[in-house]
Amino acid sequence: MFAEIAIPLNVHQTFTYRLPASFAASARPGCRVLVPFGKQLLTGYVVDIHQTIEETGQQDEGFEIKDVEELFDTEPLVTRELLDLTKWIADYYYAPWGETIKSSLPAGINAEAETILSITNEGRAVISASSGKHAQSAKTQALAMIAESGMLNAAALAKEFNKNRASAIARELERVGHITITRQMQSAQVKPKRQQAVRLIQRAPIEGAKPLNEQQERVIKILFDSAEPIAFAQLAEIAGVSASVIRTLEKRGYVEVFMREVRRDPLAHLKHIKPDEMELTAKQQLALDQIVEKLNENSYAAFLLHGVTGSGKTEIYIRAMRATVEKGKSALMLVPEISLTPMFARRLRAHFGDAVAILHSSLSEGERLDEWNRIRQGEARVCIGARSGVFAPLENIGLIVVDEEHEASYKQDETPRYHGRDTAIMRAHQANAVIILGSATPSMESFHNAHTGKYTYLKLDERIGKRPLAEVRIVDMRQVFEKYGKQQIFSDEVKSEIAENHARGEQTLVLLNRRGYSSFLLCRACGYRASCPNCSVALTYHKFDARLICHYCGHQERIPRACQQCEGPFIYYVGEGTEQIEMLLKEMYPELRVSRLDRDTTRRRGSFEKLINEFASGAIDLMVGTQMIAKGHDFHNVTLVCVISVDAGLGMPDFRASERAFQLLTQVAGRAGRGEKPGRVIIQSYHTENYALEFAREQNYEKFYDHEINFRRNMHYPPFVALINALIKHQDFAKAAFAASELARLLKEADKENVLKVLGPAPAPLSRLKGEHRMQVLIKTRYRRQAREALDAAMAELKAIGQDLKMITVEVDPVNLM
Ligand code: ADP
Ligand code: ZN
Repeated sequence: MFAEIAIPLNVHQTFTYRLPASFAASARPGCRVLVPFGKQLLTGYVVDIHQTIEETGQQDEGFEIKDVEELFDTEPLVTRELLDLTKWIADYYYAPWGETIKSSLPAGINAEAETILSITNEGRAVISASSGKHAQSAKTQALAMIAESGMLNAAALAKEFNKNRASAIARELERVGHITITRQMQSAQVKPKRQQAVRLIQRAPIEGAKPLNEQQERVIKILFDSAEPIAFAQLAEIAGVSASVIRTLEKRGYVEVFMREVRRDPLAHLKHIKPDEMELTAKQQLALDQIVEKLNENSYAAFLLHGVTGSGKTEIYIRAMRATVEKGKSALMLVPEISLTPMFARRLRAHFGDAVAILHSSLSEGERLDEWNRIRQGEARVCIGARSGVFAPLENIGLIVVDEEHEASYKQDETPRYHGRDTAIMRAHQANAVIILGSATPSMESFHNAHTGKYTYLKLDERIGKRPLAEVRIVDMRQVFEKYGKQQIFSDEVKSEIAENHARGEQTLVLLNRRGYSSFLLCRACGYRASCPNCSVALTYHKFDARLICHYCGHQERIPRACQQCEGPFIYYVGEGTEQIEMLLKEMYPELRVSRLDRDTTRRRGSFEKLINEFASGAIDLMVGTQMIAKGHDFHNVTLVCVISVDAGLGMPDFRASERAFQLLTQVAGRAGRGEKPGRVIIQSYHTENYALEFAREQNYEKFYDHEINFRRNMHYPPFVALINALIKHQDFAKAAFAASELARLLKEADKENVLKVLGPAPAPLSRLKGEHRMQVLIKTRYRRQAREALDAAMAELKAIGQDLKMITVEVDPVNLM
């Protein structure tokens, strides 16, 4: 028998290996195996089994087929459904299948194989014969190392010699019979968590023994009432006794203390809460009915649920998930990283109890592995996760929800470069499931699909309780400039509104999408700008750290006293960042409790939740932040949102710049007036005539869409064409430029039907990053299959002329062209 193996390396094909008889019975698609690949041994994934050599399609006589060395799973780890889904990703996104499978699994499970070298009797004889002799050969030295403890990890030998040498020596020693080589799966780095627990074994007082004291009685009563063992520490706490009381009971034979495995439960703190049972509004009910109708048909159907923030979308998701679970199926919900707030987790726990599993990047590796296992074993039937949650190993999936479907964070920006939303759509398709895409500001792609009938459009156009949307005003900063004769950071409106809002005891959000203190450092005498030596961007001034920092590669420099070019003293900081805004506001309003939420203040685990909770509880009056503050949170006392500037975002050389600005402004406006009191939003800008701004002010999505879709149609951008961007990176500019122009030429040559528009090569908008020069070749087309074929042909040709394909990153459907 033969197995087709996907290898987690940057290769776009699978490889055939022979399955030795000992594995043939249990090897199935989805199992992990150890296979020799070049000079290495790698963990690969079985994706297909062939009975005969003919089936494998290998005709080349004399081509040596190697053996599978080890089979690691007797039950497939990867389900059939996820093999199909990862295969689709590999084809659609030009990603290596093996790497895609690997990244679909939780990190804690991707353990590596370990090679163990054991000495044989013969080997021992050789060692004792050679002992005492001088000038030992490398082979004898290695053998002595192995003999010392009888067994040695090959990695230890590789440390002593170099890697290739060590494995050559080991193979030679095995050949002459001095050692044996075996392989085992390294025990997963993440181990099950264990804890001490106490169970009751004797309820009644033991006859003739000393009577129990009050504390001891209490412990016994608690254990009796619970009917189940209780964790040692927890028991001591509930009973209000010290550990020694329990130990005494153990000695006297009343209780038993034992070790048990516990699952790490990221939602443990949310036990025992009741769901809010509310009656759906007529609009919600109408939407839910349509969804449930499709759920009952057990076939693929897609919905776009378009509803302003606070219109009750989440309530519909939850009811639809409940209907799915009641049908005996499982449900998956994807959310963008940041909006997975504790509040949301609480709502889900309340509805689904232990049946809900959560997959999220702020969980520890152990927590994630435990949650993954609960899903794989069918214990958890509802799963909530961020982007990679789309790979949750749920079986019999009936519903997938993608909340905030327009979010750019659904796109993974490393290999495999898949889009979580689009992958979810494909998964629903393959599983005959229903999918709901939800958003207040749907992506152009999704709204277009609703327009053309690919998705059923559901609209919730009112906030729950008919709360009005916030009133949005735009302040023209050019007029402010005229009035004061110099640039101002805050307009009069913003200043007085902040003060008045505080006087009323209400909270304020201040948004600026740029962290740090100043965006760059400029010499007024010679015009020199401090920029990153590795990237073609300016360094950002961080006052608190007293550093200039590159936001792309992390490069840091001390603050110069003089200009590095003309040595003059006229150093000047231009463009404000959140750090400066926070400082200025603290100076202007000493009576306000001001805090800041951005990537710099949320580095530590838990600091994000802490800041959000402080703000929600009213311990902070005013929060300054980047787009992090714009999303998902439900703060009832926030009535004022001030946007300091969006001009930088609007000016990005990216066809999605307007869409992104519109979404951000609408989202942040949605933070104001979520409670009883109405909200106000002030947007400052030097480009007040921009349509994204104007339609955001009106909070009119449809008008924005109509305008934007025309731009996309006229300029041949998605959703009317597919974009495929090839980024060519190299430290040596000439090498990058050569490969890029060859790639462009070969793509055009391969485009026999003349259906591709190949643009470039051109320098990427970030033409230098992390020390590498970056060129790009952009394909625009309506024909994805032809694009893929041309890409395959061009890449093969590039390789044939000696180009290193590692320097090329292909991104299909890029969300960001920077
Ligand atoms: P969205 O997801 O669209 O932002 P939510 O579902 O979170 O909206 O609803 C906003 C608020 O209104 C929440 O506090 C929610 O509990 C409440 N809510 C939702 N539906 C109803 C309803 N039918 N009746 C009363 N309150 C509701
Ligand atoms: Zn840099």
